[in-house]
Amino acid sequence: LQVKNPRTGEYDYTIKPLAAKDIEEKAADLKLAQIHWQQAEIEYRIACLQAWKAQVILHKERLIEALAKDTGRIWETKLEVDMVATSIDRWCKIAEEFFKKTDPKQSSIPFISLQQGLKAYGLIGVISPWNFPLLLSLIDTIPALLAGCAVIVKPSEVTPRFIEVINLTLAPLQNTLTFVAGDGIIGEALIDNCDMICFTGSTATGRKVYDRAAKRMIPVFLELGGKDAAIVCENADLDLASSSILWGSTANAGQSCLSIERVFVHQNVFDEFVEKLVEKAKKIALNSDSINEGKIGPIIFEKQVDIINYQLKDALMHGASIAYGNVECQIINGGYYCLPTIVTNVTNSMMLMQEETFGPIIPIMPFKNNEEALQLANSTIYGLSGAVFAATQNEAIHLGTQMVCGAVSINDCALTAIMHEGEKASFKLSGIGGTRMGPNAIKRFMRQQVMIIKNNAENDPWWYN
Ligand code: NAD
Repeated sequence: LQVKNPRTGEYDYTIKPLAAKDIEEKAADLKLAQIHWQQAEIEYRIACLQAWKAQVILHKERLIEALAKDTGRIWETKLEVDMVATSIDRWCKIAEEFFKKTDPKQSSIPFISLQQGLKAYGLIGVISPWNFPLLLSLIDTIPALLAGCAVIVKPSEVTPRFIEVINLTLAPLQNTLTFVAGDGIIGEALIDNCDMICFTGSTATGRKVYDRAAKRMIPVFLELGGKDAAIVCENADLDLASSSILWGSTANAGQSCLSIERVFVHQNVFDEFVEKLVEKAKKIALNSDSINEGKIGPIIFEKQVDIINYQLKDALMHGASIAYGNVECQIINGGYYCLPTIVTNVTNSMMLMQEETFGPIIPIMPFKNNEEALQLANSTIYGLSGAVFAATQNEAIHLGTQMVCGAVSINDCALTAIMHEGEKASFKLSGIGGTRMGPNAIKRFMRQQVMIIKNNAENDPWWYN
């Protein structure tokens, strides 16, 4: 499989996926290693993860280099690699608390007590997308390892260069983690050989994963597409809201599931808000000349360029206007780029307002009152996250709790990118399964088991007399 460099447009890297039979063998080895891994005390697993963290830090520069080549950005890449260490520490702390031993409890029958336990699933298959190749490969992997599972990760074939490097760091994990390169065929092989699947990617592929996993009756956790809305109330701080929304919509060139992709602004402050946003957007430069300068990197995946262009064209054809930005992605030095693009005169039925764009595009629509704002915000098939800006926290929270999505940033945007402690689910077609953050994320990887203990030496009253 040929891999494209998004800054030059050249195919300058190749991956050679394993055969499905090799995946079967790898899965068998991992399942064997998992038996000892789950029998070990949590302190042992934490020590192994800490030793792994040290290896990741040792290979940090090589990881950054590989990820930056695949994604064409540097600032986000450094953050992505730095977040590995902090997230290992965070999960180790949560796991320590989670695995605290509890004494057997008396049941409702006087001579029977119960000892609740949790048993790890065996092998978890993690299938990840190209927008944050490392972060999204590890977001489920780390809690799964701490839970006592083994993990096989298949990152996206669009951004696979870091696999070579990360596989050099894994020795401390006792053969319980590996990364394999490949496309959907290898993804399918994971579904066929693992005991549970954690998938992050598009809703379309998520359906296929769900379907295949259903045939084996294995549990799946799907984290899929989004079309996050921001609501800006009449009394909101427009300076704060415009700065936050500009970042929340265009960071990583909008290639985040939790990007703000629709903005609803109260009609009385609409023009003022758009003016502020345009003024600020003009100062945000592309990084096309140098990866170390500018804020907006290239569109990583060529097929995404077609989607962005198609949605913009459709919106313009139906009467939308560009208040600032590009009418389509531009080619610079072989890469595809798009300025922060502010689109007005949009209607809610436009593709741009309904389908995931995954680019730095900010369509803005006015609303009359809070009821209408909520109705518009809730009117897509997605329910990942959202944002509300209002004069008081109470007012914003009041609206936020009526949004049909798993996380709402209050007087800020896209906080789930940074804050990984709050527990949340993905609603509607944005996903299925429990939270991937907080203590309950570890629980996903475990089955409940109970020891039902007879405490006396007498005949039970229900036995044959
Ligand atoms: P994608 O669905 O095209 O691919 C995701 C992964 O699935 C890749 O590794 C791919 O090789 C694999 N795959 C493809 N076909 C498969 C199959 N039949 N069986 C098993 N695996 C298969 O998604 P993408 O384009 O890489 O990523 C962008 C999408 O990911 C966007 O929709 C974005 O919203 C979503 N995303 C969601 C979250 C979240 O947390 N909800 C986070 C980041 C990205």
